[in-house]
Amino acid sequence: MVRLRPAVIVHYHEISLKRGNRPLFLRHLARNLERAIADLGPAPLRQLSGRILLDLADHPRPEAVRDRVARVFGVASCALAYRVPSTVDAMKGVVARLIEGRRFASFRITARRAFKTYPKSSVELNRELGAFVLERVPTRVDLTSPELTIHVEVMPAETYVYVDRTPGPGGLPVGASGTVTALLSGGIDSPVAAWRMMKRGCRVVFVHFHSVPYLPATSQEKARALVRSLTEWQYASRLALVPFGEIQREIVLVVPPPARVVVYRRMMVRIAEAIARRHGALALATGESLGQVASQTLSNIARIDEVAGLPILRPLIGFDKLEITNEARRLGTFEISIEPDADCCTLFVPKHPATRMSEAEIAAAEARLDIPRLVAAGDDGAAIETFEFPARAERADAPGIPLGGPRANAP
Ligand code: ATP
Ligand code: MG
Repeated sequence: MVRLRPAVIVHYHEISLKRGNRPLFLRHLARNLERAIADLGPAPLRQLSGRILLDLADHPRPEAVRDRVARVFGVASCALAYRVPSTVDAMKGVVARLIEGRRFASFRITARRAFKTYPKSSVELNRELGAFVLERVPTRVDLTSPELTIHVEVMPAETYVYVDRTPGPGGLPVGASGTVTALLSGGIDSPVAAWRMMKRGCRVVFVHFHSVPYLPATSQEKARALVRSLTEWQYASRLALVPFGEIQREIVLVVPPPARVVVYRRMMVRIAEAIARRHGALALATGESLGQVASQTLSNIARIDEVAGLPILRPLIGFDKLEITNEARRLGTFEISIEPDADCCTLFVPKHPATRMSEAEIAAAEARLDIPRLVAAGDDGAAIETFEFPARAERADAPGIPLGGPRANAP
């Protein structure tokens, strides 16, 4: 009986990669794959033509590696494959093992040759291996919607055979697009927005505004829990917790109620931008969706953008609340977001915020604020926490403990 030599084969969407940015994409993808599975055991990584191989010959948990890989941005699909020499007999040996004890009404063989000098064509391989399966299992060939697909990838040095392909999240590897700063409330939308930015290859630095001591610290706990969860997609995160209560109190003293929400947002943007620049971020990101609430009208969005020197990206601008909520459920952030809390936006919020304000009106509303001092207060008051996935303390020897965790105030 053949000894199975497992490996995870990682596929990415090569077609979408332009020649020039492929090395960058692959460098980030390889690094992220290594980080994502760092705690699970040794899995040497190799770049092959159009795919990446993680060698799991001596690995204790191949399935766990596959499951982690399936959540790395940039991965189109992955599979737990078995490596054999590129002889038909060796391929048959592993196919026999893979179908052992399995029942399937229909199947197909999908053979591909990564190098065309291999003596047999894909069609010949499909036929020979297909006939081999039909001899052993009462089943039939179905090329269009088979119950089981047996993939055979013939590479120059060896062949990979696998049955189940797991879809990956797609997107670009985190880091390949640079850094953005995401404004993270405790709500449903902003964690989804941050995840969308990660999916497009951004490393996200989080900023959360809280109103301690005017409100309890629950919003900070929620922000931490959200960052901990989202760190599973980018492996290391920074969260800036910015004291905003005092700033809001000063705003309330001099800004008329209808203008306050937009003034709060403009202050948040100014402070987030100061933090962003120090962390090398090239843009801000928010969870705003057009028209969802009074502060998210086109007019108010324009007033918010005016104070930003960096672009403000709004990945959810065209999404409905229901679509955002569904995505939050899929991500697992929804359960955290719906925990009751006292977000700073509930503090000093007017009953009827203005939906339209001119530049002149908002300037008048802000005229009595010492903006540079308030921005400095928020920026200087920010406490930076860092998060890691897999968390350091849980590496290798202690699997099964909840993932992620903060290290308070590390730079
Ligand atoms: P969310 O569900 O993300 O809280 P929302 O629908 O409640 O969004 P708003 O309260 O208008 O909308 O907030 C709009 C955006 O402003 C949020 O998506 C977030 O990016 C940012 N934001 C709001 N409050 C905070 C906060 N306390 N800290 C950081 N960012 C915030
Ligand atoms: Mg909110």
